[in-house]
Order: sequence, then C-alpha cells, then structure tokens
Amino acid sequence: MECRDLDIAIVGGGLVGCSLAVALAPLGFAVGLVDAGGPQPLSSDPRKLALAAASLNALGALGVLARLPTPPSPIRRLLVSREGDFGRLCFEAAEFGRDAFGGVVLAGDLGAALQQAVAALPQLQVVRGHAEALEGTADRRPLRVQPEVAPAELWRARLVVAADGTASPLRAAAGIGIDHHDYGQTLLVASARWAAASPDTAHERLSDHGPCALLPMAGGLHGVICGVPPDAAPALLAQNDTDFADYLQTRFGWRAGRVLAVGARSAWPLRRVVARRLVAERLVLVGHAAQTIHPIGAQGFNLGLRDALSLVDGLEEARSMAEDPGSAARLADHVERRREDRERTLAFSDSLARIGAGSTPLHRLGRSLGFAALQFDPSLRAAFVAGAMGFRGRTPRLAGEAA
Ligand SMILES: Cc1cc2nc3c(=O)[nH]c(=O)nc-3n(C[C@H](O)[C@H](O)[C@H](O)COP(=O)(O)OP(=O)(O)OC[C@H]3O[C@@H](n4cnc5c(N)ncnc54)[C@H](O)[C@@H]3O)c2cc1C
Repeated sequence: MECRDLDIAIVGGGLVGCSLAVALAPLGFAVGLVDAGGPQPLSSDPRKLALAAASLNALGALGVLARLPTPPSPIRRLLVSREGDFGRLCFEAAEFGRDAFGGVVLAGDLGAALQQAVAALPQLQVVRGHAEALEGTADRRPLRVQPEVAPAELWRARLVVAADGTASPLRAAAGIGIDHHDYGQTLLVASARWAAASPDTAHERLSDHGPCALLPMAGGLHGVICGVPPDAAPALLAQNDTDFADYLQTRFGWRAGRVLAVGARSAWPLRRVVARRLVAERLVLVGHAAQTIHPIGAQGFNLGLRDALSLVDGLEEARSMAEDPGSAARLADHVERRREDRERTLAFSDSLARIGAGSTPLHRLGRSLGFAALQFDPSLRAAFVAGAMGFRGRTPRLAGEAA
C-alpha cells in the first residue's frame, strides 16, 4: 500500500472541510483532503444559507465570495415573532452602524465556489474516496484511504481533522462520546415569492411546530425554512404548489403579504448531536462532526467555519514557531480558543429552538420577558446582534472585528 506522510489530513470535503483546506493553504503545510461525497453533489444543495458578517469577512478574504455566481443577498433587517404571542423583535443593521448583519447564499453555489477554490490549490492532495481510522498514534495518526478508482493508500498525518459530518466515523473511532436530542421536527426547505416581502429582510416566525424562516434571495425570492412534525413532511412534499402555498400562508401569516408562487421543496431531518470532546490524540473535530445544531438562528455552518478558522490561527502560530501541529499542547490551545464561542452558540440555538417551540404558560411568560428585554435594552440588543453576526468569544483572525 502506498504511504503518504502529511502534516494535516482533512477527512470530509463538505462546506467546512473545503473552507479549512482553502484557509490552510497559505501556511505551507503538507495537507491532504479526502471526501466520500454525499447523496447529492455539494454544488446542487438547494438550501439557502444565512452567512453571518464574520463568515462573509472570512469567505471574502479567502477569495470564495468572488467565485459565487451572484453576491450574497444582504440581510439589513431581522424580524422575530411568535405565533400566538404579542409583540415582535426588530433589528435594523443601520441601528448598529452596519450595512448588513450578513447575507444569504444558495448552499450549492457556496459548495461549488469552495470546490473551485480547492481545485485551484495545486499543492493540496485531494482524493475522492473514503477514509478509515487505523489503530496507533505516536508522532503521526494513520488513516486507510480508499480512493474511488485506485488502490488504497496509507496516510500518516501529524494532525487529522475530522470534518466528516454528523455521524463522524472518525469521532466514533476515537471513542469520543456525543450528547444528542431529537427536536421532533423535520425542516422543509423551499423558495417562494411573497407579495410584500422586503428584499433585505429576514423573518423568523416561531411556533409550536418549530420555526418558519424567510431569507432574502436574489431575484425577489425568499428562501423558506419551515419546521414540521416528521410524519407530516412526506404529505407536504407531495402537495401541489397551490396547496403548499396555502400551507405556508397559514404557517407564516401575512407579514410578507400573500404567497404568490412556490418553488421546489426538500426535507431535512433534524437532531442535535454535540461531541463531548473536541480533540483526541492528534485528532480534532470541526463543523458538524463537532456539533450539529438546530438551524434556527442560522448558526451551523457559521460556527463550523469559525472552528476551521480558529484551527488555522493556532496552526499559523505552530508554523511560525516550528512546532508540531498535532501536539497535545496545540490541541489544548485549540479547545480553549473554541470554548466561549462554542458554548454560547450552542446555548443560543438550543434555547431558541426549545423556548421558541414551547407552548406552556411558563414558556410564554419567558418569551414575553425575553422579547421585551431584547426590544428595549440597548446592551442586550448589541450583544444579541454581535452573536448573530458571529462575534462571540475569541474571533478568528480572518473573521475580522465586530465593529
Ligand atoms: C435545512 C438546513 C438549513 C441550514 N441553514 C443554515 C444557515 O442558514 N446558516 C448556517 O450557518 N448553517 C445552516 N445549516 C447548517 C449547515 O448546513 C451545516 O453546518 C454545514 O453544512 C455542515 O458542514 P460540514 O462540512 O461540517 O458537514 P457535512 O456537510 O456533513 O460534510 C461532511 C463530509 O464528510 C464526508 N465524509 C464522511 N465520512 C467520511 C469518510 N469516512 N471519509 C471521507 N469523507 C467522509 C461526507 O461525504 C461529507 O462530504 C443548515 C442546515 C440545515 C439542515
């Protein structure tokens, strides 16, 4: 079996693994990326992703945004309301001295842009195939890499990065446990045209069944993400456009006017999977392998990207000091870099999902108090907005500054 010695092996070429490969490129490490691919190509992912300002800063600096066919659609206003509750929250970017809180891209366009950026890195070893953890670690962690159309290879890396998604075979092989929670929801993803939807406004409408979010997109469309009970999803997917438009109207109400047209739909199962540790010997977890969270609040990729960017910051230090990139000290430093952002973002998205869906009098009281505080307390508003824009804890260098 051919043997390849690397500084860093990235397992998983989803949005986070590809971002990491691109961000690592200037450091001059010997890097390999192996990706098994998914049921559908990354470039045909129909979801609409809200990218926080911190993510846009980084993806801009990495030259990825320039590869998108259309620029991100800016989010300048955020409206949050709850079915059956009084009041709503309104955040305007101008109030915080910003042009926008972030922007919306088609996940498939972002995937294609990242894959182009990866393909433009001649020094990166890219294999389309499957990696499997092998026993044994000392100065390198071994992997058996089975390319799709070539004999298996042995990779020995000083640091293995598991960017291998929610099920993360590498996390399991390293014996890292998980905490998980089933929200009892499936997410329907679609696009729709609304009669009175403002082109730069994102809406989050909370309900007993889960959130219904509208994200501004190019061409006057809005992306729709709607939580539904899992057993209702197949029938909703099968509905004709008129019936589905009526369903969306009922779920979202009339805040954006009448639903004029709906596009193709897809369904995404939903659960929370959080790794109990981020590292093992010469192994670090990033993205969905580290934490898969409820998409409410649009934090998942944004958080995973910051995992990758923080790792790059630490590895840059290791490089400049000629240190081992996979040493225990380096990994401990990474865990500390990620601690505050990870804890706060996990707590934010989980409490939004649970409190937002709760229908007891206590939930209602908690929401009313929380909404009132967030609507009227300037320091709380500023902290909420900074977090939503991706500035929590120690911000990675490429993500830039909050102000
Ligand atoms: C409906 C929905 C809406 C969302 N909206 C937002 C949003 O608005 N904003 C936001 O920030 N986030 C959002 N997210 C979250 C975001 O999509 C994820 O955080 C992100 O896609 C995770 O990427 P990843 O690279 O970590 O994992 P994945 O996309 O799961 O990639 C893992 C990769 O690893 C590969 N792999 C697995 N095992 C192996 C192996 N053994 N060998 C080789 N390769 C392997 C897989 O083939 C895959 O390509 C949303 C999620 C959902 C479900």
